[in-house]
Amino acid sequence: MNRVWRLARRPPAGWPSDGDFVLGDEAIPEPAAGQALTRTVYLSMDPYQWGRRRSGAEAVGDVCHGRTVSQVVRSRADEYQGGDFLFNTNGWQLYGLTGRNIDVFGYMFPRKLDPAVAPISTAVGVLGMLGLTAYSGIAVQCQPQPGETVVVSAASGGVGQAAGQIAKLGGCRVVGIAGSTAKCDFVVEELGLDACVSHRSRSYPDDLSAACPDGVDVYFENVGGHVFEGVLPLFNRNARISLCGMISQYGNTDGGDPGAVWAETGRSVFDRQKVAVHRLFVRDFVAEHQDRFLDEMAGWIRDGAVKYREDIREGLEQSPAAFSAMLAGGNFGKTLVSVSDDPTAAP
Ligand code: NDP
Repeated sequence: MNRVWRLARRPPAGWPSDGDFVLGDEAIPEPAAGQALTRTVYLSMDPYQWGRRRSGAEAVGDVCHGRTVSQVVRSRADEYQGGDFLFNTNGWQLYGLTGRNIDVFGYMFPRKLDPAVAPISTAVGVLGMLGLTAYSGIAVQCQPQPGETVVVSAASGGVGQAAGQIAKLGGCRVVGIAGSTAKCDFVVEELGLDACVSHRSRSYPDDLSAACPDGVDVYFENVGGHVFEGVLPLFNRNARISLCGMISQYGNTDGGDPGAVWAETGRSVFDRQKVAVHRLFVRDFVAEHQDRFLDEMAGWIRDGAVKYREDIREGLEQSPAAFSAMLAGGNFGKTLVSVSDDPTAAP
């Protein structure tokens, strides 16, 4: 049988809760001519999934959307054979059918994966959309120069890990912001950033100021809210911001546009310091930058120049819990659900 999570209701305002999802057993779908049946190996948990559910882009009764790494079980498509690994969108279920499509982020599915290039799980993380997001914000939009100070929020998370390390490879002083001492230790000791401060500390704004004695030239924004307010007084003249996300605001119940509030909070500093704000939507970078990014990032991973941490929850049943944890900072690294055995993983 197939195991399938479907959206049980249009989620009420706020954050995900138990009644939002329903798990059931269903028949395994049969591939039509031109399709392949695939078994989900890894399921990616991403903040944008919450936006789809709240906005109605994912309808009640739909299989919950999600990017996946999967393995072909049976193929009726010339381009796939049993055993192939694919980056695709099975969603929150054990089995799915391949279908050629382009998603809202401009990604073409499915894409074949070569386990010799990098561990297959990275296709939904550092060597996938998350890594490209980080690369686009740092290397394309903000272009920090050697010696400049770059600050990255949610620095131990999926996008943040990559953003901080890419800035570090460019010769910058890089300061992370994360949600615990353990996360900060990882950011400095494992990822090699110059400093990291916890936004949960009462002395957070002072700690950040002390970690940025020359001010802030580039800010990669993942969080918003009080994390952003701590960075605001530190911007140097002609600083640049890549506005990647505002995860702390995604459960807002007031219906307001978090981007508008964010911009209003920063407006006087932005005007005074001539800060350039680049809104980031990874879709805008896929066509032009994805191939170069995949080459460069695969090389950095192979050489150990970029490291990554994954937070892998075991079993499809854990999907709602993994999703909620990620949205609330209960994750430590890129959040994945291990849905079935990864035959390429080291024993
Ligand atoms: P992460 O792996 O970074 O997980 C989310 C992290 O956000 C948590 O670990 C937590 O880190 C932090 N966080 C959550 N809630 C709060 C809060 N209330 N206050 C402070 N920190 C909080 O997720 P992703 O890497 O998948 O996504 C990171 C960001 O990138 C998101 O904003 C997402 O929307 C955005 N994004 C944007 C894209 C684009 O095209 N613009 C594409 C992909 C992602 P900590 O505990 O360290 O605070």
